Amino acid sequence: MKPEIKVYQGDQIGGCITVISTDNTKIVIDFGENLPGAEKESEIEFDWEHENVDAVFFTHYHGDHIGRFMEIPDDVDLYMGEVTFKVMLNIRRAIKDDAAVAKLTERFENGSITFVERAVPICINDDIVVTGYEVDHSAYDAFMYLVEAGGINILHTGDFRDHGHRGHTFKDGKDHNTMLDVIKYYVHKNGRKVDVLITEGTMMGERADEEKFSEKDLLVWARDYFKEHRHIFLKVSSTNVDTLASFYQAAKANGMTMYANSYILKQFRVYRVAGRKHGTRMYDFWNAKQIPFISDREGADNTETYQTLDDMRKNGFVAIVGEYDHYERVMDELSDVNPEMIYSMWSGYLDPKRDAYDEKLAKFCEKYHAFQKHTSGHAYPEFIAQVITAVDPQQMIWPIHTENAEGFMKLDISEELKGRIKR
Ligand SMILES: [Zn+2]
Repeated sequence: MKPEIKVYQGDQIGGCITVISTDNTKIVIDFGENLPGAEKESEIEFDWEHENVDAVFFTHYHGDHIGRFMEIPDDVDLYMGEVTFKVMLNIRRAIKDDAAVAKLTERFENGSITFVERAVPICINDDIVVTGYEVDHSAYDAFMYLVEAGGINILHTGDFRDHGHRGHTFKDGKDHNTMLDVIKYYVHKNGRKVDVLITEGTMMGERADEEKFSEKDLLVWARDYFKEHRHIFLKVSSTNVDTLASFYQAAKANGMTMYANSYILKQFRVYRVAGRKHGTRMYDFWNAKQIPFISDREGADNTETYQTLDDMRKNGFVAIVGEYDHYERVMDELSDVNPEMIYSMWSGYLDPKRDAYDEKLAKFCEKYHAFQKHTSGHAYPEFIAQVITAVDPQQMIWPIHTENAEGFMKLDISEELKGRIKR
């Protein structure tokens, strides 16, 4: 009655699919798209018709984990965080993906989407029990899942790190590592052991050489930098909530206003409500404002826009921009105050030698002399080693979401644990 575990596309970053089944029940964890420019282009065909899947659990809202949800048949239940649902709905509305908006709305209304809550077990067919625990990641509510199936315990980390705003808490003058605490107090509750650890390893490859830079480092850096540079264009992902918060808080501390488009402002409202529920105002984005739009239509009245632009010149700003004409019109209009442009995304998109190279984005960054300040959404190898040691999987360590599973052998973990790495 031992469960069967299958991982598809585990040897690439993004698009990993995990299938766990017993004789009677089958669940899938994550069903996302390959990342743009992923080395392995073709996505696997998943035979939904014959696989008889009971439930799909999503770890978080990034496209490489959730992007293919439209392929999932209606009779398969979906499980995800509430923020994941709301963020995804906002994205699909913004890109006018009407079919996806309709599907999500319908599923929400007919009860086939269930929101995962911290440490609340979900029982599938009285057979597999899945419990989600929040982890620190660049997405707001990212979960790792403890799966109790066929007499063994499997821990699936999803994407994680410990250098974001939710990676540590400071209590009683002590630093608490959130994820290691959850492993200690929840996962290992009452002596429960983990048999199989399925863990991401994004940073095990060449990315391991990147400068190690926490969200807090970023916030502190920006707070200082904005004292001297009060006119800032920022290129950042709309769903990278921690980095958005770092820049927002740094701007606020310097009396500068954050400007963003209406779609990002909508996401800010989702993050604010969720953050407050969890007792933090880090994600408030309270006085973020709509970025001005200069209409180039003949006879258009831009009076109000020019007033806003004057306010921006006077009071300073952090404006979230993108590689589109309407942003460039605003940026060019503000060129008289010599704004700086910060690029807070992975450098790979600007590197012509990579498949992930984005020419339009690269040209845009070059035109405005952008410089990079970026925090990775993924754990550095040192923290992966700490997690493996803390979980202490009894049977197997299964690296996924990595181009360098071999790198796990070089981690600072015991020889005994190294012997359990799946090869
Ligand atoms: Zn992710």
